[in-house]
Amino acid sequence: MSLAGLKIKIVGAGIGGLTAALALRARGAEVTVLEQAEAITEVGAGLQVSPNGFVVLRALGLEDALRARAVQGQAVELRDYKAGRLVSRLDLGLLPADQPYFFLHRADLIDLLAEAVRAQGIKIRLLQRVARIEATDTPVIHLANGAETRADLVVGADGLHSKLRPELNGVTAPFFTRQVAWRATVPNTMNHPNVARVHMGPHRHVVSYPLRGGEIVNIVAVQERMGWAEEGWTHRDDPDNLRKAFGDFGGDTARLLGAVENVGVWGLFRHPVARSWHKGHTAILGDAAHPTLPFMAQGAVMAMEDAWVLADALDKADNLPEGLAAYQARRHARASKVVETANGNAWKYHLSLPPLRFGAHLGLRVASSLAPKKLLQQFDWIYRYDVTAEG
Ligand code: FAD
Repeated sequence: MSLAGLKIKIVGAGIGGLTAALALRARGAEVTVLEQAEAITEVGAGLQVSPNGFVVLRALGLEDALRARAVQGQAVELRDYKAGRLVSRLDLGLLPADQPYFFLHRADLIDLLAEAVRAQGIKIRLLQRVARIEATDTPVIHLANGAETRADLVVGADGLHSKLRPELNGVTAPFFTRQVAWRATVPNTMNHPNVARVHMGPHRHVVSYPLRGGEIVNIVAVQERMGWAEEGWTHRDDPDNLRKAFGDFGGDTARLLGAVENVGVWGLFRHPVARSWHKGHTAILGDAAHPTLPFMAQGAVMAMEDAWVLADALDKADNLPEGLAAYQARRHARASKVVETANGNAWKYHLSLPPLRFGAHLGLRVASSLAPKKLLQQFDWIYRYDVTAEG
């Protein structure tokens, strides 16, 4: 169906919402984005854009803008926590040249998407907190300030605490995984190479990689613990709590953690993947449909894939309901598999029993030196998938 003139309102100017705005506009839709925040500001820290996300940005004409702001990753290294000894190396240089892997600040990705959205004449309306959405064939958006607004199609790209998701699925309860994560950036005084390093210790791991031309280093530190922590991106913590929790981590990790001055902390929760991604003339995407633990670094990239497929599926369908059903059919299994894979990953990094650690690390060392290509190929189903070539 032609999207020309179709009035679409997208709730949420995050990565999914802005990408959807561009993909839908490129097919002729009249798009408006409603965002609760008062500004599109610098929030968040590092994100990884693997090749399956890169292809979406490239198809939207944003390759140069991405390259200008991102660091191209050369490898993912698994290292032991005490002295930082290398356990295994996933050589990203083995990926095809047209499928690069990037590290980038979330604010920079939001910035480049928002710039492109505005250049297309799409309005981002700020301070529009949505309270409720009527998921019917004539959807109505109720704003927290009491105002109402309508559209031919409403897309909920409103993240973890989506207002549209429960309208389509009822309320589902996430459960606390007994893991918390700290997130910080520090100046890159140690010449961190362009690799993502995962330092693995008993019940904990620390991920670090450079951002912004190597000026700063992004740190995510994950700990298994019984104590509760809230889900969300804005909770602050005392950097000494982070240093205490990882006091036995040595080498570069100790130096990085020593430099932390500001740190955020969040509880890691598992959410079921939404059963229904659409109802009436409404649909959800990104974290609103399938929040994921961070252990595959696919949250942002999956939101971008969804956004592309939503526009493509609508474009290829005869009518809206058919297009929305095709969108879910093309996305549900893949998103669920990514979420499940991320769910299963933490324990592999956190092995605590010395014989288990030794055995697992030895196996990885051997695989890494004997068959580096094979090690990378196990991720082909994620990284080398191209939604822009599908359908
Ligand atoms: P999100 O990126 O969560 O975007 C949702 C958008 O919807 C937000 O702009 C939000 O303000 C808006 N919104 C929510 N509710 C309403 C409402 N009722 N009315 C109007 N607007 C609404 N991931 C990382 O890997 N590293 C990070 O450092 C990181 N930092 C983050 C910081 C913030 C503030 C947020 C919101 C997310 C962060 N994430 C981070 C998560 C990551 O961006 C997402 O997992 C991923 O990009 C999926 O994006 P999304 O567009 O589906 O959702």
